[in-house]
Amino acid sequence: MTTYASNAFASARTPRIFCIGRNYADHIAEMGHGEAQAAVVFMKPIGALVASGQPLPLPTDQGEVHYEAELVVELGTGGRHITADAAAAHIAGLGLGLDLTLRSLQKELIATGEPWEKSKGFDCSAPLGPLRAFDTAMDLEALEFRLEVNGELRQHGRTQMMLVGIRELIVQLSAHWELLPGDLIYTGTPEGVGEVRPGDRLELHSDALPGASWQVTAAE
Ligand code: MN
Repeated sequence: MTTYASNAFASARTPRIFCIGRNYADHIAEMGHGEAQAAVVFMKPIGALVASGQPLPLPTDQGEVHYEAELVVELGTGGRHITADAAAAHIAGLGLGLDLTLRSLQKELIATGEPWEKSKGFDCSAPLGPLRAFDTAMDLEALEFRLEVNGELRQHGRTQMMLVGIRELIVQLSAHWELLPGDLIYTGTPEGVGEVRPGDRLELHSDALPGASWQVTAAE
């Protein structure tokens, strides 16, 4: 497979990081949320990115940090009001990443109706592995990925289980924003989320996409 480093690492161009919440029914059930009618969207700042193999310092003084393994899409071309038929042609590559979450803090923010940024957009909260260049022979509905924590399988995602599929996410995002080349989309997590602590090793694997790994340390 042809792999490459995300534009966010490879160039000075600054794309956005879109994240999709509540996109797998099994994860919605484990969190006790209701199903959304349309994709739940939030963003992370560029400082959240950490390349595979780099140290992953996480906060230890703000309650539980949870891992969320996710398939990540990088756009090659942008656009507005992209149709489902045209969506795949906008994809540059696909890879694996983590939407790290300060879960205790997120629950407080949800309870008080505040934005999620402090719980979702902290430094190093969006580790991202290498990407596989997209080609139209790849079946977007038949991708699978796994997260192992210290060698133990914790999450297994399959894109056919997404409530809003990859093409439809591009349709919905482009209805709200003009999408830009290099924009990243973290597409949501399946069930099995849990706490991550300093000393843990996180490994992402997929039959079709490049793997990635991080060693967790304590942030200063
Ligand atoms: Mn997530």
